[in-house]
Amino acid sequence: MLTDSEKALARAVLIHGPISRSALTTRLGLSPASLTRLAKPFLDQGLLVELDDSADGSVGRPVRPLDVADIGRFAGVKITGDALHVVATDVRASLLATTSHPLRSHDPAAVADEVAAAVADLGLGSLTGVGISLGGSVRDGVSEFAPFLGWKDVAFGALVEERVVAPVSLENDVVALAEAERWFGRGRGIPGFSVITIGAGIGYGLVVHGEVVRSREAGVGLGGHIPLSAVGPVCQQGHRGCAEAMLTSGSIAGQVSASLQRSVGYDEALALASAGDPAARAVVDAAADALGRLVALAANLTLQPAAVLAGEGIGLFTVAEERVRAAIAADRDPRADPIELYIDDSGFTAWARGAAAVAIQAAVDRLRLD
Ligand SMILES: [Zn+2]
Repeated sequence: MLTDSEKALARAVLIHGPISRSALTTRLGLSPASLTRLAKPFLDQGLLVELDDSADGSVGRPVRPLDVADIGRFAGVKITGDALHVVATDVRASLLATTSHPLRSHDPAAVADEVAAAVADLGLGSLTGVGISLGGSVRDGVSEFAPFLGWKDVAFGALVEERVVAPVSLENDVVALAEAERWFGRGRGIPGFSVITIGAGIGYGLVVHGEVVRSREAGVGLGGHIPLSAVGPVCQQGHRGCAEAMLTSGSIAGQVSASLQRSVGYDEALALASAGDPAARAVVDAAADALGRLVALAANLTLQPAAVLAGEGIGLFTVAEERVRAAIAADRDPRADPIELYIDDSGFTAWARGAAAVAIQAAVDRLRLD
């Protein structure tokens, strides 16, 4: 097993690499001599590699940045209530393949079968790790509850591990997405930001001091029931105008359907609003106001003036960007820094890549020095 300082080095090189030794000593609070001592066994065993300096013509001591070696291929699987979204990546979480499969059952063993088949379908042969993310609370490989699947205390990590020849990491989907945004996504290089996802549910995650806040509560869905409007519809828990009532794709589609007295899907509801249909526009405008309020609330309460908006329902932002931005400004003290807003519109791929990121970090933690 790696020591804590060895893990910190390996993770820092993974997430920030290629990275110069001087940047690493600053980041890890080490002297150059300590870093040399710590890095030597990794370099000797080929787990870290020293890159040649880029030929930029600069003079001075060679930097010889460090990077992680190629330690294999990874799969990331995001499970929703009706589908599996699957990616294959390398150790840098670069995409090698993307697929999705309909989910035929919510029975845990059957879902594990489908995950194993989807991973095998990637055709990558042996994998270094498989990451799985889903909505709900996750602890130590156990899905404590997953509302979209109707699960309670399902040891799903172990179920999949029996079916794939690779270590499996199970994580809450928003925590996994926040890892991905912090590491290689829209939040890269930003020390603190909230991650707000809209889609079938409302997700909320937080990065502070460059680290994802991990807590059992991250999976409870607390961000979904924050009150945002006094006059909105009512959620399943009876809150008027909470985040779920205002912002989920199901609620938006349902409100537009009720107004038009015919069944309208989420994408169609957004398209109708774009085309100027007054009923759809009213629903979308109210949702945009609520989204802006949620973004401002997150920044105001966490003191992190940046937010990444993501999730498969991100089309709401696309059709109502001006309105969202105006609502953010309206709820932000002008003496505070303006909120930097970053949009990740890669939808389900972002979720699945987040799952892969968790598997990659777990694999780095599992590295062994002989
Ligand atoms: Zn609610």
